[in-house]
Amino acid sequence: MSTVEQQTQPQPNGAGIATIRVDNPATGATIGHIPNLDRDGVGELVARARAIQPSWEALGYDGRGAIMLEMRAWMSRNRDRIVETLCEENGKTWEDGLLAELLYNLDALGFWARKASKYLADEKVRPHSPFLFGNRLIERYRPHGVVGVIGPWNYPLNNNFGDAVPALMAGNTVVLKPSSLAPLTSLLIAEGLRESGLPEDVFLVATGSGDTGSALVDFADFVHFTGSTEIGKKVMARAAETLTPVSLELGGKDPMIVCADADVERAANSALFYSMQNGGQTCISVERVYVEEPIYEEFVGKVAAKARNLRQGVPRGPGSVEVGAVTYPEQAELIERHVRDAVEKGAKVLVGGARNDADGGIFFQPTVLRDVDHSMEIMTEETFGPTVPIMRVGDAEEAIRLANDSRYGLDSSVFTRDLEKGERLARRVQAGATCVNDCSTNYFALEVPFGGMKESGMGARHGPKGIQKYCQTQQIMVKRFAAKKEIYFFPYRRRVTKGLGRLLGLLYGRGRRGR
Ligand code: NDP
Repeated sequence: MSTVEQQTQPQPNGAGIATIRVDNPATGATIGHIPNLDRDGVGELVARARAIQPSWEALGYDGRGAIMLEMRAWMSRNRDRIVETLCEENGKTWEDGLLAELLYNLDALGFWARKASKYLADEKVRPHSPFLFGNRLIERYRPHGVVGVIGPWNYPLNNNFGDAVPALMAGNTVVLKPSSLAPLTSLLIAEGLRESGLPEDVFLVATGSGDTGSALVDFADFVHFTGSTEIGKKVMARAAETLTPVSLELGGKDPMIVCADADVERAANSALFYSMQNGGQTCISVERVYVEEPIYEEFVGKVAAKARNLRQGVPRGPGSVEVGAVTYPEQAELIERHVRDAVEKGAKVLVGGARNDADGGIFFQPTVLRDVDHSMEIMTEETFGPTVPIMRVGDAEEAIRLANDSRYGLDSSVFTRDLEKGERLARRVQAGATCVNDCSTNYFALEVPFGGMKESGMGARHGPKGIQKYCQTQQIMVKRFAAKKEIYFFPYRRRVTKGLGRLLGLLYGRGRRGR
């Protein structure tokens, strides 16, 4: 959680710069201050990153990969410090820091270090056109230059440094703008990279507010943005002014469909865990559940009973609580508004339903709602809190229709014992990913691209596309047998042109037989 304070850091010229105060949302304690970089400050960072980029690229995949592996070892050695920082600035539990964030990054560092050279290898292509026979065609990837990564507060490690790793492995330098609500993990990462041998200026952190992010869009050669759909649209509009390419990972309203033949115990455990994990502040958390009529009562009963056993409070190390804090006051107000709106329209609160602020922290009780429908914001807008609204549906057809009745399309899930049916239903959900009998863990499938459909985003992270996007493609064509002159060069001659016309007729005039 953060607050901007003016004029608190004296500069050599006697002026002051604004700084941002960072608080622990679970306790209200101030845990740091960071500079609020202005436009010039961002410009300077990007210029430094641009100056060093060619030598970073020249280091090659092995050289860059070796540093990433050093960083992996550094992160593993410093895991308690990293997880502590994540918990303090975000209010998440130790387990959310360790298992959802640190683990992902340890794995991703090794993955990109190994795969970058394969995914970005030159592709030799055989020309299909008879007019290009004899030419050597190569498609190659070259880094954009300076990549601006703009990250959200809910995953200060995964959606910040985690998205910088493939950009770095592709040979770009990176300027990262973390959320002003949770910037300290990114600064710790910069320290780790220095100690792991990363050359100066290859990875720089531009701390600051939304304006700092906006300036980064102006200066960077490519922007990877993770955040809300609302700000994502602004980033895209701004990038259009400089024709800077962007990839956008935006909000979600992930549906979970539970069929009557599902393992109800597993489905209930999954609904609870994936809606409450990280306090529900995960882009791919379960935000709404559709359950077929025959098992609705059993499912709702199980989820409610399990939710009553959850412990919430200040995360104080491993095993202390299951649900941590809400990261900032406006987010708690939004959750409160969604629950109130649902109740006013007829939903019933089975567990929780109210704020739980204590000891200077911001908390919302783990909340289970039944009898919800699509007239309620909690079923249509991103809530981003520890809430699980459960709707009764007549059959899977209705569930699919409702799941797709959304402007979002990020992740989703289907629960059934019939795996073929599960896959069939999965193919009909309008979302960037669908899990059968699981949720969210597809984020760890680094081999396949993952990104949102509809207003959940554009582009993808992971898989070959997740690193190729950090590059421009360049086509190289080498003429191996070059005559002094081609037949179609100047001057044009009637006889030659007519001959070429006849050749076209021979090549392309055979209809279906000539395919
Ligand atoms: P925001 O969109 O509010 O902010 C994201 C980042 O953009 C922050 O660093 C923010 O800075 C910065 N920013 C704000 N205004 C601008 C601007 N005009 N130009 C450039 N940058 C700007 O998102 P949140 O931080 O609130 O993150 C939560 C959202 O992120 C949720 O909607 C969630 O679903 C989504 N998300 C999506 C993921 C995905 O993979 N699809 C993964 C994780 C989260 P500051 O914070 O300082 O204002």
